Amino acid sequence: MEIHKTVGLLVVEKGKILLIERLNEPSIGMLALPGGHVDGGETVKEAAVREAHEEVNGVEVVGNPVHVFNHDVGENESNCPEKHKHECYVFACKVSGNIVTGSDAGKFIWLDPRDFQKYGPKITDSSQEIIRWYLDQLGKLSCMSDTISSLPGE
Ligand SMILES: [Zn+2]
Repeated sequence: MEIHKTVGLLVVEKGKILLIERLNEPSIGMLALPGGHVDGGETVKEAAVREAHEEVNGVEVVGNPVHVFNHDVGENESNCPEKHKHECYVFACKVSGNIVTGSDAGKFIWLDPRDFQKYGPKITDSSQEIIRWYLDQLGKLSCMSDTISSLPGE
């Protein structure tokens, strides 16, 4: 099965995650993290920077991918008629200016993780997977800081 490389941009500010409304197929009207396919000849980092410009001005890609995962793409989930797989590279981004969504994105929201269940059905599967991974990392970090703060002092 064919594998396409894609990028997903995780923009977090004040504990909230940026989601944009998709104005084009696939997944029109759904909420998703900014991102898209890596074009031929582009590195994943270059694709992340380009998508950041195209979809949401005002964010800056930071460093190397923080996570990579594979997911299946069904026949109706993409412009590509064939079923295929995506190898998605997740990049962390910071807000560097006013968020202005690009031409293929509608409104944007800041998702409070506590509302994740409520918004779940409106969020694309691959973005849900990235958000779940992110929240899982946060959970591990807070467990770690609990452990550290409970260690006996000197
Ligand atoms: Zn694809």
